[in-house]
Amino acid sequence: MTDRRSELAANLDSVERRISAACAAAGRKRGEVTLVVVTKTYPASDVRVLSELGVRHVAENRDQEAAPKAAECADLPLSWHFVGQLQTNKVRSVVGYADVVQSVDRLKLVRTLSSAALRAERELGCLLQVALDAEHGGPARRGGAAPEQLPGLAEAVASAEGLRLDGVMTVAPLVGPYAGRESAAFERLMEISATLRSDHPAATMVSAGMSADLEEAIAAGATHVRVGTAVLGLRPQLR
Ligand SMILES: *Cc1c(COP(=O)(O)O)cnc(C)c1O
Repeated sequence: MTDRRSELAANLDSVERRISAACAAAGRKRGEVTLVVVTKTYPASDVRVLSELGVRHVAENRDQEAAPKAAECADLPLSWHFVGQLQTNKVRSVVGYADVVQSVDRLKLVRTLSSAALRAERELGCLLQVALDAEHGGPARRGGAAPEQLPGLAEAVASAEGLRLDGVMTVAPLVGPYAGRESAAFERLMEISATLRSDHPAATMVSAGMSADLEEAIAAGATHVRVGTAVLGLRPQLR
């Protein structure tokens, strides 16, 4: 094995052990949680190795970087998740490779995604990104819609051609009432998910938890964790 391959294999192993331990601690089955590896800033060659090591879901947050990477990896059995703030002028490109957009946060984006999905003759999974720091009127600093906007957004996705309402996503807030309180943030997301599911029973995905807080997310009930650093290493701009 090359150095990079053994490094990624060892990192994946340790993330897998963390996920398994968190599931066991929460009395959940390992199969209830899907690992999505966030490959942003890392090359297509790493994505290829991850695929060979058994990863099936990868995520990116910038179309400029993701589009060529996804094209280079088009032969691999991967699902691509888009997790970044999405400008409507990037939607056509994103719909060309993404299976799920986890960052749906406004009506205009829903309309644009729907027409792009129709044109591409694809069905696109959508998660509503919840800005927990925007509850009660604060600004959404890490993207997302305020919880009070979710019912309208959910209706819009559910009734839009080409789109499938899959669930909710959040990034634990750095400021506001949930800052430093990841468990409380993820529990709030689970309540929001339960409300959503009462109207849209198929919207069961709950995407929460990253390298630093995947245990808290799994304890709360997350179905998908998005892990970058713990698998690939510190990103260049974070070093
Ligand atoms: C980068 C990113 C992640 C992964 O973060 P790590 O701390 O590197 O695991 C997860 N979710 C989103 C939306 C991201 O942008």
